[in-house]
Amino acid sequence: MVDYDVIIVGAGPGGSIAAKGLVEEGLNVLLLEEHNNIGLPQHCSGWISGCEYTEELIKTIPQNLIIQKVKGWRVWSPKGKKICEFEDFGFGGYFVDRVNFDRELAKQAAKKGAKIKVSSKVADLLIDHNLVKGVTINTKSGPENITADVLIGADGVRSYLSGVAKKSGIAELERKPREFFPAMQIEFVNISDIDPGIIEIFFGFDFDKNFGMAFLSPLEENLALIGFGNYKDYLKIKENHPVMSNRLKSADEIRYLGGMYCSKFGESLRTAVKNNVTLIGDAAGYHGIVPACISAHYASGVIKEAIDLEDFQHLELYDKTRKKSTIRGARLAIDIRALTDEKIENFLQVGGKEATYVMLELISKLKI
Ligand SMILES: Cc1cc2nc3c(=O)[nH]c(=O)nc-3n(C[C@H](O)[C@H](O)[C@H](O)COP(=O)(O)OP(=O)(O)OC[C@H]3O[C@@H](n4cnc5c(N)ncnc54)[C@H](O)[C@@H]3O)c2cc1C
Repeated sequence: MVDYDVIIVGAGPGGSIAAKGLVEEGLNVLLLEEHNNIGLPQHCSGWISGCEYTEELIKTIPQNLIIQKVKGWRVWSPKGKKICEFEDFGFGGYFVDRVNFDRELAKQAAKKGAKIKVSSKVADLLIDHNLVKGVTINTKSGPENITADVLIGADGVRSYLSGVAKKSGIAELERKPREFFPAMQIEFVNISDIDPGIIEIFFGFDFDKNFGMAFLSPLEENLALIGFGNYKDYLKIKENHPVMSNRLKSADEIRYLGGMYCSKFGESLRTAVKNNVTLIGDAAGYHGIVPACISAHYASGVIKEAIDLEDFQHLELYDKTRKKSTIRGARLAIDIRALTDEKIENFLQVGGKEATYVMLELISKLKI
């Protein structure tokens, strides 16, 4: 007799959406979160890319969590030339209060009947004859073993290196090992020329040598988050960038957010299933809130069927389903590191608005 039908590791958006979906299907679900506070520490600026799914998701959360709807885009070349500005084309979506968004999704899951434990880090998997029988968690009162029929790894980008993806052996099913890079965002107040609702993209490898661009998230008038590779990159940009150095002149840094992303930015794992373990969201190699939630939906439907059928092989359907679906999300369709600032500059200067559309298409395609 197991303690739960399903244990989910990680109460990010993916984990909470899966928990809610599974309890709605009548399953007995435990959601484990290593931190004391769901939503903290915050890694991301809370931009939810636009698509049909986003419109549905946004209706389910209190409206005060929506900071604003994205109205348009402004794009800058590496040399600081404003290439164009245009109305949103459906990909813009919304900015939300990310910390309380995560809490809200977890609350919704708990209200439906999911059991949530915070301060409960999954330290190990209980493996017997290739099947994961449960997990060992470290709690304030010591280690505890909990069992379940199915395990979901929703433990984020680190899953591949040390979490469920690694411990279950799914990570080693990749043909080539994945690389990871640090990323940071700085929140500035008193930054000039912010148009709330207009996302700005600054192309240029000086912002981030792996990413080749910076995303400016306009949160309020004169308040924005900007992504950099690291603090040194930020200092160089502040000193030398033809546009940003002026705009940051009177700005005050009020918050640093840090995290990690994979060099395959958003390209999901070849397989996200092994026996009775399923990965969703960043743990499955995706990047972004929307892919985390959508993969959670796909996984929970298939898990319910597998439990009813008492057949874990049925979980392989999750891999097939997610690979067939195409949605917009944050995925680089090309490795931008194959380009240089000079090539991007020429392309944007010569191609103008049309070239910008091509670049945006490249960053907005996601094959989930
Ligand atoms: C700098 C930066 C900015 C970003 N900005 C955006 C953005 O604006 N928009 C966007 O869509 N995406 C953004 N992202 C990506 C986004 O944060 C993720 O894609 C999204 O949070 C994935 O959701 P998830 O549920 O898969 O995982 P996560 O949100 O990472 O949640 C994983 C959870 O698992 C928990 N956990 C991990 N290990 C264990 C363990 N052993 N035991 C128990 N719990 C564990 C973690 O504490 C965490 O709560 C950004 C990422 C970075 C690094």
